[in-house]
Amino acid sequence: MKIKTLLGALLALTSSTVMAAQQQQPIAIAIHGGAGTIERSNFTPEQEQQYRATLKQAVEAGYKVLEQGGESLDAVTTAINLLENSPFFNAGKGAVYTYDEGHELDASIMDGRNRQAGAVAGVKHIKNPINLAKDVMQHSVHVMLSGEGAEQFAKQRGYQLIENSYFDTESRYQSLLKAKKRLQQKQAASKDYQAAHQQLDSHYKMGTVGAVAVDKQGNLAAGTSTGGMTAKRFGRIGDSPVIGAGTFADNRSCAVSATGHGEYFIRYNVAADICARVAYQGKSIAQAGKEVIFDTLQPIGGTGGVIIVDPQGNISMPFNTAGMYRASKTSKTATKVAIYAE
Ligand code: ASP
Repeated sequence: MKIKTLLGALLALTSSTVMAAQQQQPIAIAIHGGAGTIERSNFTPEQEQQYRATLKQAVEAGYKVLEQGGESLDAVTTAINLLENSPFFNAGKGAVYTYDEGHELDASIMDGRNRQAGAVAGVKHIKNPINLAKDVMQHSVHVMLSGEGAEQFAKQRGYQLIENSYFDTESRYQSLLKAKKRLQQKQAASKDYQAAHQQLDSHYKMGTVGAVAVDKQGNLAAGTSTGGMTAKRFGRIGDSPVIGAGTFADNRSCAVSATGHGEYFIRYNVAADICARVAYQGKSIAQAGKEVIFDTLQPIGGTGGVIIVDPQGNISMPFNTAGMYRASKTSKTATKVAIYAE
Protein backbone atom coordinates (compact mmCIF):
# COMPACT_ATOMS: atom_id res chain seq x y z
CA MET A 1 0.00 0.00 0.00
CA LYS A 2 2.75 2.33 1.03
CA ILE A 3 4.74 1.54 -2.11
CA LYS A 4 1.63 2.18 -4.21
CA THR A 5 1.17 5.57 -2.59
CA LEU A 6 4.80 6.39 -3.11
CA LEU A 7 4.61 5.35 -6.75
CA GLY A 8 1.45 7.41 -7.23
CA ALA A 9 3.13 10.45 -5.70
CA LEU A 10 6.19 9.94 -7.90
CA LEU A 11 4.04 9.65 -11.03
CA ALA A 12 2.12 12.78 -10.14
CA LEU A 13 5.38 14.61 -9.55
CA THR A 14 6.86 13.46 -12.87
CA SER A 15 3.80 14.41 -14.87
CA SER A 16 3.54 17.77 -13.15
CA THR A 17 7.24 18.37 -13.87
CA VAL A 18 6.65 17.47 -17.53
CA MET A 19 3.61 19.73 -17.63
CA ALA A 20 5.54 22.55 -16.01
CA ALA A 21 8.33 22.08 -18.55
CA GLN A 22 5.79 22.15 -21.35
CA GLN A 23 4.15 25.24 -19.91
CA GLN A 24 7.52 26.93 -19.78
CA GLN A 25 8.29 26.14 -23.40
CA PRO A 26 7.40 29.34 -25.24
CA ILE A 27 5.54 29.08 -28.53
CA ALA A 28 6.14 31.44 -31.43
CA ILE A 29 5.42 31.94 -35.10
CA ALA A 30 6.64 34.44 -37.69
CA ILE A 31 5.56 34.80 -41.31
CA HIS A 32 6.66 36.81 -44.33
CA GLY A 33 4.99 37.75 -47.59
CA GLY A 34 8.09 38.80 -49.48
CA ALA A 35 10.72 41.52 -49.33
CA GLY A 36 11.41 44.20 -51.92
CA THR A 37 10.81 47.75 -53.03
CA ILE A 38 7.75 48.01 -50.83
CA GLU A 39 7.13 51.66 -49.97
CA ARG A 40 4.19 53.60 -48.55
CA SER A 41 3.69 55.36 -51.87
CA ASN A 42 2.90 51.99 -53.55
CA PHE A 43 -0.37 51.59 -51.65
CA THR A 44 -3.69 53.28 -51.06
CA PRO A 45 -4.66 53.13 -47.35
CA GLU A 46 -7.31 50.51 -48.26
CA GLN A 47 -4.76 48.30 -50.04
CA GLU A 48 -2.33 48.55 -47.15
CA GLN A 49 -5.13 47.62 -44.78
CA GLN A 50 -5.94 44.52 -46.85
CA TYR A 51 -2.33 43.34 -46.81
CA ARG A 52 -2.11 43.89 -43.06
CA ALA A 53 -5.38 42.06 -42.44
CA THR A 54 -4.26 39.02 -44.46
CA LEU A 55 -0.91 38.87 -42.65
CA LYS A 56 -2.68 39.13 -39.29
CA GLN A 57 -5.14 36.41 -40.21
CA ALA A 58 -2.36 34.06 -41.36
CA VAL A 59 -0.10 34.54 -38.32
CA GLU A 60 -3.00 34.15 -35.90
CA ALA A 61 -4.25 31.00 -37.64
CA GLY A 62 -0.76 29.51 -37.33
CA TYR A 63 -0.49 30.61 -33.70
CA LYS A 64 -3.82 28.97 -32.90
CA VAL A 65 -2.44 25.62 -34.04
CA LEU A 66 0.49 26.04 -31.62
CA GLU A 67 -1.74 27.22 -28.80
CA GLN A 68 -3.91 24.13 -29.14
CA GLY A 69 -0.83 21.94 -28.80
CA GLY A 70 -0.38 21.30 -32.53
CA GLU A 71 2.94 20.74 -34.28
CA SER A 72 5.06 23.59 -35.62
CA LEU A 73 4.94 21.88 -39.05
CA ASP A 74 1.15 22.25 -39.09
CA ALA A 75 1.30 25.84 -37.86
CA VAL A 76 3.66 26.61 -40.74
CA THR A 77 1.46 25.01 -43.41
CA THR A 78 -1.71 26.57 -41.98
CA ALA A 79 -0.25 30.08 -42.19
CA ILE A 80 1.30 29.49 -45.61
CA ASN A 81 -1.93 28.06 -47.06
CA LEU A 82 -3.73 31.30 -46.21
CA LEU A 83 -1.01 33.35 -47.91
CA GLU A 84 -0.96 30.98 -50.92
CA ASN A 85 -4.72 31.40 -51.28
CA SER A 86 -4.50 35.20 -51.18
CA PRO A 87 -3.94 36.97 -54.52
CA PHE A 88 -1.75 39.59 -52.81
CA PHE A 89 1.32 37.41 -52.49
CA ASN A 90 3.58 35.72 -55.00
CA ALA A 91 2.70 32.14 -54.04
CA GLY A 92 -0.28 30.02 -55.05
CA LYS A 93 -3.05 32.32 -56.34
CA GLY A 94 -1.32 35.53 -57.41
CA ALA A 95 1.97 33.84 -58.35
CA VAL A 96 4.08 35.80 -60.82
CA TYR A 97 4.15 34.90 -64.53
CA THR A 98 6.99 33.14 -66.33
CA TYR A 99 8.38 34.58 -69.56
CA ASP A 100 6.03 32.23 -71.43
CA GLU A 101 3.01 33.61 -69.55
CA GLY A 102 2.34 30.69 -67.23
CA HIS A 103 3.12 29.95 -63.59
CA GLU A 104 5.70 27.57 -62.12
CA LEU A 105 5.69 27.19 -58.36
CA ASP A 106 8.36 26.14 -55.85
CA ALA A 107 8.01 25.25 -52.15
CA SER A 108 9.84 23.51 -49.33
CA ILE A 109 9.43 22.56 -45.69
CA MET A 110 11.80 21.31 -42.98
CA ASP A 111 11.27 19.58 -39.65
CA GLY A 112 13.72 20.75 -36.95
CA ARG A 113 13.34 17.54 -34.93
CA ASN A 114 15.22 15.35 -37.36
CA ARG A 115 16.16 17.53 -40.33
CA GLN A 116 13.66 15.75 -42.53
CA ALA A 117 12.76 17.94 -45.50
CA GLY A 118 10.51 18.00 -48.56
CA ALA A 119 10.42 20.24 -51.61
CA VAL A 120 8.73 20.68 -54.98
CA ALA A 121 10.03 22.72 -57.87
CA GLY A 122 8.43 23.97 -61.07
CA VAL A 123 4.94 22.58 -60.39
CA LYS A 124 2.11 24.05 -62.46
CA HIS A 125 -1.12 22.47 -61.29
CA ILE A 126 -0.90 22.28 -57.49
CA LYS A 127 -3.08 24.78 -55.61
CA ASN A 128 -1.01 24.69 -52.39
CA PRO A 129 2.56 23.61 -53.17
CA ILE A 130 3.62 23.72 -49.50
CA ASN A 131 1.25 20.81 -48.78
CA LEU A 132 2.82 18.76 -51.54
CA ALA A 133 6.30 19.58 -50.17
CA LYS A 134 5.14 18.24 -46.80
CA ASP A 135 3.84 15.08 -48.47
CA VAL A 136 7.18 14.62 -50.24
CA MET A 137 8.85 14.82 -46.82
CA GLN A 138 6.45 12.48 -45.06
CA HIS A 139 5.42 10.04 -47.78
CA SER A 140 8.36 9.66 -50.16
CA VAL A 141 11.95 8.59 -49.78
CA HIS A 142 13.11 11.77 -51.55
CA VAL A 143 13.66 15.39 -50.60
CA MET A 144 12.91 17.26 -53.84
CA LEU A 145 10.56 16.39 -56.69
CA SER A 146 10.16 18.55 -59.78
CA GLY A 147 7.74 19.31 -62.62
CA GLU A 148 5.62 16.50 -64.05
CA GLY A 149 7.11 13.89 -61.72
CA ALA A 150 6.08 15.90 -58.69
CA GLU A 151 2.58 16.15 -60.13
CA GLN A 152 2.40 12.39 -60.75
CA PHE A 153 3.32 11.90 -57.11
CA ALA A 154 0.60 14.42 -56.17
CA LYS A 155 -1.98 12.43 -58.16
CA GLN A 156 -0.96 9.27 -56.33
CA ARG A 157 -1.47 11.11 -53.05
CA GLY A 158 -5.01 12.05 -54.16
CA TYR A 159 -4.43 15.67 -55.15
CA GLN A 160 -6.78 17.30 -57.66
CA LEU A 161 -4.63 18.95 -60.31
CA ILE A 162 -5.92 22.41 -61.17
CA GLU A 163 -5.69 24.57 -64.30
CA ASN A 164 -2.59 26.75 -64.45
CA SER A 165 -4.88 29.73 -65.14
CA TYR A 166 -6.17 29.46 -61.53
CA PHE A 167 -3.01 31.37 -60.51
CA ASP A 168 -3.70 34.29 -62.93
CA THR A 169 -4.13 37.83 -61.66
CA GLU A 170 -4.28 40.99 -63.76
CA SER A 171 -1.73 42.90 -61.69
CA ARG A 172 0.91 40.16 -62.04
CA TYR A 173 0.21 40.04 -65.78
CA GLN A 174 0.82 43.76 -66.07
CA SER A 175 4.11 43.28 -64.15
CA LEU A 176 5.14 40.62 -66.64
CA LEU A 177 4.44 42.90 -69.60
CA LYS A 178 6.50 45.65 -67.97
CA ALA A 179 9.32 43.24 -67.09
CA LYS A 180 9.44 41.87 -70.64
CA LYS A 181 9.58 45.36 -72.09
CA ARG A 182 12.46 46.24 -69.78
CA LEU A 183 14.21 42.99 -70.62
CA GLN A 184 13.87 43.64 -74.36
CA GLN A 185 15.26 47.16 -73.97
CA LYS A 186 18.19 45.97 -71.88
CA GLN A 187 18.81 42.97 -74.11
CA ALA A 188 18.85 45.19 -77.21
CA ALA A 189 21.54 47.24 -75.49
CA SER A 190 23.64 44.35 -74.11
CA LYS A 191 22.69 41.51 -76.55
CA ASP A 192 22.77 39.20 -73.57
CA TYR A 193 19.71 37.70 -71.84
CA GLN A 194 21.59 36.87 -68.64
CA ALA A 195 23.03 40.35 -68.30
CA ALA A 196 19.66 41.91 -69.08
CA HIS A 197 17.96 39.81 -66.43
CA GLN A 198 20.62 40.67 -63.92
CA GLN A 199 19.80 44.35 -64.42
CA LEU A 200 16.05 43.90 -64.06
CA ASP A 201 14.71 45.88 -61.11
CA SER A 202 14.81 43.90 -57.91
CA HIS A 203 11.06 44.02 -57.34
CA TYR A 204 10.53 41.64 -60.26
CA LYS A 205 12.50 39.06 -58.35
CA MET A 206 10.55 38.97 -55.09
CA GLY A 207 7.27 38.21 -53.32
CA THR A 208 7.54 34.74 -51.77
CA VAL A 209 5.72 33.68 -48.58
CA GLY A 210 7.09 31.73 -45.63
CA ALA A 211 6.63 30.78 -41.99
CA VAL A 212 8.78 29.59 -39.07
CA ALA A 213 7.48 28.28 -35.75
CA VAL A 214 8.34 26.60 -32.45
CA ASP A 215 5.68 24.48 -30.75
CA LYS A 216 4.93 23.41 -27.16
CA GLN A 217 7.28 20.44 -27.54
CA GLY A 218 10.11 22.81 -28.47
CA ASN A 219 10.16 21.57 -32.06
CA LEU A 220 11.07 23.98 -34.83
CA ALA A 221 9.80 24.05 -38.43
CA ALA A 222 10.23 26.28 -41.46
CA GLY A 223 8.41 26.49 -44.80
CA THR A 224 8.57 28.65 -47.93
CA SER A 225 6.33 28.86 -51.02
CA THR A 226 6.71 31.01 -54.15
CA GLY A 227 5.89 31.70 -57.77
CA GLY A 228 9.57 32.65 -58.14
CA MET A 229 10.74 35.49 -60.30
CA THR A 230 8.68 37.43 -62.85
CA ALA A 231 9.63 36.52 -66.45
CA LYS A 232 11.74 33.55 -65.37
CA ARG A 233 12.71 31.21 -68.23
CA PHE A 234 14.36 27.92 -69.03
CA GLY A 235 12.89 26.12 -65.99
CA ARG A 236 14.63 28.49 -63.57
CA ILE A 237 14.37 27.35 -59.95
CA GLY A 238 15.03 29.80 -57.11
CA ASP A 239 16.15 29.34 -53.53
CA SER A 240 12.72 28.72 -52.02
CA PRO A 241 12.67 24.94 -52.63
CA VAL A 242 16.38 24.55 -51.89
CA ILE A 243 16.93 23.29 -48.36
CA GLY A 244 19.67 25.34 -46.72
CA ALA A 245 19.15 28.28 -49.08
CA GLY A 246 15.50 29.36 -48.74
CA THR A 247 14.41 27.10 -45.88
CA PHE A 248 16.15 25.50 -42.91
CA ALA A 249 15.18 24.14 -39.47
CA ASP A 250 17.12 22.37 -36.75
CA ASN A 251 15.98 22.19 -33.11
CA ARG A 252 19.59 22.75 -32.01
CA SER A 253 19.85 26.20 -33.60
CA CYS A 254 17.00 27.88 -35.45
CA ALA A 255 14.41 27.83 -38.23
CA VAL A 256 14.64 30.21 -41.19
CA SER A 257 12.51 31.09 -44.23
CA ALA A 258 13.97 33.47 -46.80
CA THR A 259 12.73 35.85 -49.46
CA GLY A 260 14.78 37.74 -51.97
CA HIS A 261 16.88 37.41 -55.08
CA GLY A 262 17.09 33.62 -55.07
CA GLU A 263 20.32 33.21 -56.98
CA TYR A 264 22.23 34.97 -54.19
CA PHE A 265 20.43 33.00 -51.49
CA ILE A 266 21.44 29.73 -53.17
CA ARG A 267 25.05 30.77 -53.67
CA TYR A 268 25.41 31.93 -50.07
CA ASN A 269 23.41 29.06 -48.55
CA VAL A 270 21.64 31.74 -46.54
CA ALA A 271 19.19 29.87 -44.28
CA ALA A 272 21.71 27.20 -43.26
CA ASP A 273 24.49 29.77 -42.81
CA ILE A 274 22.39 31.72 -40.28
CA CYS A 275 21.68 28.58 -38.24
CA ALA A 276 25.32 27.45 -38.50
CA ARG A 277 26.43 30.73 -36.89
CA VAL A 278 23.96 30.07 -34.08
CA ALA A 279 25.05 26.43 -33.67
CA TYR A 280 28.81 26.74 -33.99
CA GLN A 281 29.53 30.30 -32.90
CA GLY A 282 26.87 30.56 -30.20
CA LYS A 283 25.45 33.72 -31.77
CA SER A 284 21.93 34.96 -31.18
CA ILE A 285 19.53 34.70 -34.12
CA ALA A 286 19.46 38.51 -34.29
CA GLN A 287 23.25 38.70 -34.64
CA ALA A 288 23.51 35.76 -37.07
CA GLY A 289 20.66 37.13 -39.24
CA LYS A 290 22.17 40.61 -39.30
CA GLU A 291 25.58 39.29 -40.32
CA VAL A 292 24.26 37.28 -43.25
CA ILE A 293 21.67 39.76 -44.55
CA PHE A 294 23.66 42.99 -44.07
CA ASP A 295 27.32 42.02 -43.92
CA THR A 296 27.40 39.16 -46.42
CA LEU A 297 24.53 39.71 -48.89
CA GLN A 298 24.09 43.46 -49.07
CA PRO A 299 27.61 44.35 -50.26
CA ILE A 300 27.37 41.92 -53.20
CA GLY A 301 23.87 43.07 -54.24
CA GLY A 302 21.91 40.17 -52.69
CA THR A 303 18.61 41.82 -51.83
CA GLY A 304 16.03 40.27 -49.52
CA GLY A 305 15.34 39.18 -45.97
CA VAL A 306 14.60 36.29 -43.64
CA ILE A 307 12.40 35.37 -40.71
CA ILE A 308 14.06 33.39 -37.91
CA VAL A 309 12.84 31.69 -34.74
CA ASP A 310 14.91 29.92 -32.06
CA PRO A 311 13.91 27.22 -29.55
CA GLN A 312 13.35 29.88 -26.85
CA GLY A 313 10.67 31.54 -28.99
CA ASN A 314 12.78 34.57 -29.96
CA ILE A 315 12.06 36.03 -33.37
CA SER A 316 14.23 38.08 -35.72
CA MET A 317 13.22 39.42 -39.14
CA PRO A 318 16.11 41.27 -40.82
CA PHE A 319 15.88 42.54 -44.43
CA ASN A 320 18.05 44.80 -46.56
CA THR A 321 15.24 46.05 -48.84
CA ALA A 322 12.82 48.96 -48.38
CA GLY A 323 10.22 46.65 -46.88
CA MET A 324 9.19 43.10 -46.08
CA TYR A 325 5.62 41.98 -45.42
CA ARG A 326 5.85 40.30 -42.04
CA ALA A 327 4.00 39.35 -38.86
CA SER A 328 4.70 37.49 -35.63
CA LYS A 329 3.03 36.29 -32.47
CA THR A 330 4.57 34.54 -29.47
CA SER A 331 3.48 33.43 -26.00
CA LYS A 332 5.32 36.53 -24.72
CA THR A 333 4.30 39.10 -27.34
CA ALA A 334 1.03 40.12 -29.00
CA THR A 335 0.45 39.98 -32.76
CA LYS A 336 2.76 42.34 -34.66
CA VAL A 337 2.24 43.16 -38.34
CA ALA A 338 4.65 45.32 -40.33
CA ILE A 339 5.49 46.16 -43.92
CA TYR A 340 8.13 48.90 -44.07
CA ALA A 341 11.45 49.31 -42.31
CA GLU A 342 10.83 50.76 -38.87
N1 ASP B 1 13.36 33.96 -53.46
C1 ASP B 1 12.39 33.80 -54.51
C2 ASP B 1 13.06 33.32 -55.76
O1 ASP B 1 14.15 33.76 -56.06
C3 ASP B 1 11.65 35.04 -54.81
C4 ASP B 1 11.17 35.80 -53.64
O2 ASP B 1 11.58 35.62 -52.52
O3 ASP B 1 10.30 36.62 -53.84
O4 ASP B 1 12.46 32.54 -56.44
